Amino acid sequence: MEVTNRYIVTKTHIDGALEESHFELKTASPALTVEPGSNDVVVKNLYVSIDPYQLNRMKSYSSSKSAIIFSIGITPSEGIDAYGVARVVASGSSKFEKDDLVVGLIAWGEYSVVKEGNMLSKLDPMGFLLTHLLHPSMSSNRCLNASPNASSNAFASSISTELQLLPLFVPAGFSGLAAYGGFFEVCQPKKGEKVFVSAASGSVGNLVGQYAKLFGCYVVGCAGSKKKVELLKEKLGFDEAFNYKDETDLKSTLKGYFPDGIDIYFDNVGSEMLEAAVANVNNFGRVAVCGVISEYTSGKRAAPDMLDVVYKRITIRGFLAADYMNVYSDFISTTSDHLCTGNMQALEDITPGVENIPSAFIGLFSGDNVGKKIVKIADE
Ligand code: NAP
Repeated sequence: MEVTNRYIVTKTHIDGALEESHFELKTASPALTVEPGSNDVVVKNLYVSIDPYQLNRMKSYSSSKSAIIFSIGITPSEGIDAYGVARVVASGSSKFEKDDLVVGLIAWGEYSVVKEGNMLSKLDPMGFLLTHLLHPSMSSNRCLNASPNASSNAFASSISTELQLLPLFVPAGFSGLAAYGGFFEVCQPKKGEKVFVSAASGSVGNLVGQYAKLFGCYVVGCAGSKKKVELLKEKLGFDEAFNYKDETDLKSTLKGYFPDGIDIYFDNVGSEMLEAAVANVNNFGRVAVCGVISEYTSGKRAAPDMLDVVYKRITIRGFLAADYMNVYSDFISTTSDHLCTGNMQALEDITPGVENIPSAFIGLFSGDNVGKKIVKIADE
C-alpha cells in the first residue's frame, strides 16, 4: 500500500525568534510495508503533542540535546519526533497488530515509521481507564464504568465511539508528570504554604496550580491575558491571578499578592519573573525550575539576586519530568481521582491539520494556547 505522507521539517537550525519560514511541509510517498520480524511499526498519526522544549532541540547548540533521549537534536530537513497517539497500519513486531491504537514517540506528520526500541506502547485497558478518567466532561458514572476491570471488548467498542478522548493521553504524559513531580517532589509543599506559578494557564502551569490548591496551598498564577486570568480564578480555583503583561514592576506586583512572601515558586518562564519571584521568596523557600520559555527565543538570562539565595537559604532546582517516573502511578491515580470527581479540570487546546503544526508551535511562544496544545492529524 502506498500513501502520501505530509510531514513537517525545519529548514535550518533555529537560534532566535521563531518564524513560519523556518518550517516546511514536505510530501513523500512511502510504501507502508515492513519486513516481518524487522520490529518496525508503521503508524497513522492521530494526535501530536506540541511542546516548547522542541525549540531547544532545533537550536544549533542547547544543553538539552545531551540531557535525555527525548531532547536530542533535530536535524534540519529530517522528520521531527514528538509524543502522540496513532493507529498501527503495518507491523513487523509481534507486540503490535494492524489497527492497534498506540501512544509514544511518533512524528510531526501524517504517518511515522517507529523503529524498534523507540518508545511505543499499546493502549491497553489501563489506557482505557485513563482516557475516560482524564476527560473533564466525563460524569462520575462514566468514570466508574471505566474501571480497571473493564473488558477488552468494552475497551475496543468504547475507543471507536470516543476517539475524541484520545488526546488526553498526551496531557496525561510529560506535561502532567512535570507538574506532579515538580510540585510534590521538587517543591515538597506543606499545607497552607504560599505558591506562585508562572505560565499558569499553560499545559504544566494549570495543573500545578490545581494540585497546589487541592493540596491546601494558597495559589497565585500569572498569565498573558485578561481571559486567561479569569479562567484561572473562575474555572481552576486559583486564589488570585494577574496578567504579567499589564505590570511594569513585577517585584512590587508580587509583593502585593504575597505580603508575607512566597514559599514556593514554580517557574515556567525564567528571566524577569524568576528575578522578581526570588526577591519575594521566604527563608527556606523552594524554586522549581521547570522551564524558562521567555529565554528560549530571546537570549535573555535570569540574574536572580544571589545574596537573597544565600541569606534566605533558597533552594533553586531544575528538573525533568522523566526524573519522576517513580511517581508516575501516583500521578495517574491522584489526577484521575480528582478529574473524575470534578475537583480538577483538564485543559486542552486542539488545532486540526498537520499543516498547522508550525503555527501551533510558534503560538506557544506568544501565548496563543490555553492549556495543553495538541494538533489533531486525523480522525482515525
Ligand atoms: P505552555 O505553558 O502550555 O505554553 C507556553 C506558555 O508560556 C504560553 O501559552 C505563554 O502563556 C507562556 N509564554 C510564552 N512566552 C512567554 C514569555 N516570553 N514570558 C512569559 N510567558 C511566556 O507550555 P508547557 O508545555 O506547559 O511548558 C511550560 C514550561 O515548562 C516551558 O518552559 C517548558 O519548556 C517547560 N516544561 C518542562 C518540562 C520538564 O520536564 N522540565 C516538561 C514540560 C514542559 P502566557 O499567555 O501566560 O504568556
